[in-house]
Amino acid sequence: MRSFAPEARKRVGPKQARIVPIVERLLVEHADATIALTFRNELELLVSVMLSAQTTDVNVNRVTPALFRKYRRPEDYLAVPVEELENDIRPTGFFRQKTKSLRGTMKMLVEDFDGNVPRTLEELTRLPGVARKTANVVASELGHTQGVVVDTHVRRLSQRLGLTRQDDPVKIERDLMKLVPREYWGVFPHLLIWHGRRVCLARRPRCEECVLNDLCPSSRV
Ligand code: SF4
Repeated sequence: MRSFAPEARKRVGPKQARIVPIVERLLVEHADATIALTFRNELELLVSVMLSAQTTDVNVNRVTPALFRKYRRPEDYLAVPVEELENDIRPTGFFRQKTKSLRGTMKMLVEDFDGNVPRTLEELTRLPGVARKTANVVASELGHTQGVVVDTHVRRLSQRLGLTRQDDPVKIERDLMKLVPREYWGVFPHLLIWHGRRVCLARRPRCEECVLNDLCPSSRV
């Protein structure tokens, strides 16, 4: 839970009045904000997002070109020995667990979804190793946004901006779904992620350069 000095809250006003200006300013500031993973189709999207757990998108993008040349259909992930797939994704870390998840997911795609990637959060979260955050990212990229992705940047910035008092990602998502207009649910996490990488850094937020400093109760300027 976070609390701000009453003066800071008073200075910036209620979050309901700040949310649209926050989104609009970030849309201008980070017009290039999109998912940083590289993929060419829905299967590659799903695999990239699954591999990105506990590692950076840059790291995943280093591994996937060769991976996607070799594994083109869900069946391809099941056709090689486990150790071979483990080896092919090893640089992304946690490769044994990720291999298990990938194989379980590919099996279910083949058996239950005719080899296609489903669109609803309910179906996506049935896939082994696919938690709500992964499902949200995939659904959103496929144009079926059903929630707000909460990663480490979204969590930190939502808290700093006084958009939530929660710490748990599921509760933060609930707060953001109530606050952020639905048409922005897909882009909002990308905006916070890019703002978090470029300006509102974890250790040293650059408040003096931040376009949100008059709307942010944590601003140091
Ligand atoms: S004003 Fe500072 S703390 Fe607030 S969003 Fe900007 S960089 Fe982050």
